[in-house]
Amino acid sequence: MKRLFLHGLLFVWIFGVCTHGVARPPNFVVIFTDDLGYGDLGVQGHPSLRTPNLDRMAAEGARFTDFYSAAPVCTPSRAALLTGRYPLRSGMCQMGSSRSVLFPNSPGGLPPGEVTVAELLREAGYATAHVGKWHLGIHPGSRPQDQGFDQTFGLPYSNDMDAVPGLTKGAAMSPQPPADGWNVPLLRNGTVVEQPADQTLLTRRYTDESLAFIRAHKERPFFLYLAHSMPHVPLFASPRFKGRSARGLYGDTVEEIDASTGEILAALRAEGLAENTLVIFTSDNGPWLTQGSQGGSAGLLREGKGSTWEGGMRVPCIAWMPGTLQPSVISEPVSALDIFPTLAAIAEIALPKGVELDGRNVAPVVLEGASMPDRPFFYYRGDEIYACRVGPWKLHVRTRDGYGGSAAEVHNPGLLYHLPNDPSERHDRAANHPEVVARLRGLIAAQQASVRPGPPQLQ
Ligand code: MG
Repeated sequence: MKRLFLHGLLFVWIFGVCTHGVARPPNFVVIFTDDLGYGDLGVQGHPSLRTPNLDRMAAEGARFTDFYSAAPVCTPSRAALLTGRYPLRSGMCQMGSSRSVLFPNSPGGLPPGEVTVAELLREAGYATAHVGKWHLGIHPGSRPQDQGFDQTFGLPYSNDMDAVPGLTKGAAMSPQPPADGWNVPLLRNGTVVEQPADQTLLTRRYTDESLAFIRAHKERPFFLYLAHSMPHVPLFASPRFKGRSARGLYGDTVEEIDASTGEILAALRAEGLAENTLVIFTSDNGPWLTQGSQGGSAGLLREGKGSTWEGGMRVPCIAWMPGTLQPSVISEPVSALDIFPTLAAIAEIALPKGVELDGRNVAPVVLEGASMPDRPFFYYRGDEIYACRVGPWKLHVRTRDGYGGSAAEVHNPGLLYHLPNDPSERHDRAANHPEVVARLRGLIAAQQASVRPGPPQLQ
């Protein structure tokens, strides 16, 4: 099956070469937003946020209705995206009483031994760039330049870290956050170029950096990882966007990211690269609901960032590669773990030996509309599995609010939801389907028994 599929891919690629005169492997652009919720795009049903560029990207590409980040918070989600592995394997998640993300004074980071998709692609001859937020470690071995990126420009961690002494509590969720409230540095290839970074210009600068990288590398295969700092609080938009959105400051920042994405797709078209570049747009986790009107929306999904309810981990995802990828809406469950093996397959690069990947190659789903055999997706909160999805069914064995004081509730045998029928997770069906509950409990137990945790990195 896999062999057959690779032949199919080869055909797609050779076909592409013959018809478009392309003589090289495809380029990849991954646009990763921060805390953008499932309901925060026009194409996802938001009534007042205007995202014409992303709406068009979705109309021309594949929009995933059931795409998951691999963790409900920043650091583990990013580790999983770049490695194709549940963050527990790399130690990049909350373990026991450790923190849930990296902080400026954290000694840990993405272990040097982890193989990132950037390393895989660079080894195969790709030019690689990281632009935007990193949040996978600031120490040698863990930085972007140590993890496969030829060049890096952006913030080392979240834009609400490095708060200045005496900053008013709650300043991050203010509709007018103080420009000098956070001393977060802007780095280029490891050197501080501005501190504090002017956060109103981050999206603009990230966009310019991305456009320059694309134009400078149009003659060779490239991988661009553009990880926006927005719309994570404190929210800042450039003068062109500030005050323009009907959805307030949150909307201003999302509409600026929408315009940025439009500029990147336009540049790919103008350079003749669009038909040979796979662009993926998604988010690192759900909306941060405790930030008042500065937090986004999970639409009809339950809860948000930090939680393993759908709103915490199911996020918008659009893939775009005009000519190769047919316009479609895909409801196959797919996750950020799948990006590593999928890009490797499309670029025809062998997977690294001896690395236990948790993702699968989903190119047949994306390129051919195929369905995948049922496989479990595990919703980890830190080092614990809270829920598992297989096909339409999701079983929660623990639940807890994303933020707020409540302790975890343990469910035995569990809360069972049929997600296509009940996307808001309101109607527990466990009593009607004991065989499904038993099967999912078995999968959770097997996963717990088989995954070896890495040394904790988030102490
Ligand atoms: Mg985030």
